[in-house]
Amino acid sequence: MTTTHAGREAAANNVDAVVIGAGFAGLYAVYRLREMGLAVRGFERGSGVGGTWYWNRYPGAGSDSESWVYSYTFSPELEQEWTWSSRFPPQSEILRYLEHVAERFDLKRSFEFNTAVNGATYDENSNRWMVKTDKGDTVHATYLVTAVGCLSAAAVPNIAGRDDFKGAWYHTGQWPHEGVDFSGKRVGVIGTGSSGIQAIPVIAKQAKHLTVFQRTPNFSVPARNRALTPEEVSNLKRNIKEIREFCRWSTIGQPYDFKNQNALDLDRETLRQQLEDNWQKGGFEWMFGAFPDMLYDQRANDIAADFVREKIRETVKDAKLADKLIPAGYPIATKRLPLDSGYFETFNRDNVTLVDLRETPIERIVENGVRTSDTTHELDIIVFATGFDALTGPLTRVGIRGRQGRKLEDKWADGPRTYLGVATEGFPNLFMITGPGSPSVLGNMPTSIEQHVDWVCGLITHLRKSGAVRAEPTTQAEEHWGQHVKELADQTLFPQADSWYLGANIPGKPRVFLPYIGGFGTYRKLCNEVADKGYEGFAIG
Ligand code: NAP
Repeated sequence: MTTTHAGREAAANNVDAVVIGAGFAGLYAVYRLREMGLAVRGFERGSGVGGTWYWNRYPGAGSDSESWVYSYTFSPELEQEWTWSSRFPPQSEILRYLEHVAERFDLKRSFEFNTAVNGATYDENSNRWMVKTDKGDTVHATYLVTAVGCLSAAAVPNIAGRDDFKGAWYHTGQWPHEGVDFSGKRVGVIGTGSSGIQAIPVIAKQAKHLTVFQRTPNFSVPARNRALTPEEVSNLKRNIKEIREFCRWSTIGQPYDFKNQNALDLDRETLRQQLEDNWQKGGFEWMFGAFPDMLYDQRANDIAADFVREKIRETVKDAKLADKLIPAGYPIATKRLPLDSGYFETFNRDNVTLVDLRETPIERIVENGVRTSDTTHELDIIVFATGFDALTGPLTRVGIRGRQGRKLEDKWADGPRTYLGVATEGFPNLFMITGPGSPSVLGNMPTSIEQHVDWVCGLITHLRKSGAVRAEPTTQAEEHWGQHVKELADQTLFPQADSWYLGANIPGKPRVFLPYIGGFGTYRKLCNEVADKGYEGFAIG
């Protein structure tokens, strides 16, 4: 029997699952779903795979997780074949890795690139999702898997006069593929989060002059990035199984964990020495391989914060400038802690100026630069390192409608409501990879992603085996989960900072702590228990 063109089209438009996004999560979701024998179609806005690493090509962009754990674990062969160059790989290398994975497992054939999903509506009669794209396609699927990333909806602040600027402007999360030549240019960077802190030292070396517009001074810990020696590589590859297993059950999906000891139990000198030793090692371990009370107890947190303040003071030669760069008013690490490669040192350069927006706020953007309350800073290029509408933004902008046409953004008007961060009541068979209410951004993303995809695939297998067609969380399960996520966050110092974890960076966004802070290992255990109890908390029918 020959299949007609129309027949093939119809088949392609009626699939088991649609996956949105071709980053770490989307690629793995397609791999697993196909392995289960499902017909899958994927859609990706970008022209290629990579997600975060496709879009964030700004100078200095790279992973803050150690390379040997910032990767997939599903294929032992892949793990042995691929060799990372350095401790913290640059964006270009991670993108190459994801392209390699896509080729190696023949994943691209399931994706349509340059295609954004601009609507997905659940039809109760057919129990199917009707997915529409900006290319005019309509695809029907039983399962809708969103792999849209947590930090993919770039937020460019609505500063008056932005369109008057005659120079070029860029957002770090939408960086041009051809790169930006800063040589001989007067550059302004607005924002000193992780992206700004990675980009600023690199731009400063290229630009004629760099002006950094800082609203809130940020803590930062040295990355101490370096090349991996062949000996390290072979040791890591030999022990990779154990390393991965440790990550899976750790608090933040990394190859280290909090000590079984509080900072406040140590005498000052011992504590200082331990902080110093870890500072010399570099990386997140300084905070997240240290003392748990630093995130729960203000007194312990103050010790850590003062340690970093001293480091900033030692590094920045001009004492008045150091004062402006030293953070105060919120506990350290309650805004995502950046890792840096010479960030504070950059302010010792003659071609770098810091503008403290708390003293001289931005009034407007003008045709030749940025006007603050005291002067106009003349610029050829503005870089917005101003962050993202995190976790909810990438989902609400898709145009998802559940039962009775209810819009996801309406349901979440007062903050996202999910069960396990993976599903939401009223939207059957919608599965969100690392959605709000899951650990997601509070650690190593690939660890989180693999757990989520595997768990969703387990749920879909359960449905298919039991002859059920839909799974949807109960209202009660969702409410309990929401309370649990909030209670856990409230036990920490995190809610004290105006961070994107709380939506505080987006005007009008409800102040709700978005990720699950109970730890990757604990979350994994809870998810496994839910599965063992026949997916307790889901209405399955
Ligand atoms: P971010 O952490 O939200 O930082 C945005 C910065 O822009 C903040 O300094 C913010 O100031 C400032 N800002 C925002 N609106 C402004 C305005 N209207 N005027 C002046 N300043 C403004 O964003 P990000 O640096 O892009 O990082 C977001 C997240 O992406 C990170 O936390 C991290 O999870 C991830 N990331 C990861 C890596 C990595 O793994 N290597 C690298 C980069 C980013 P306020 O603090 O005052 O709001």
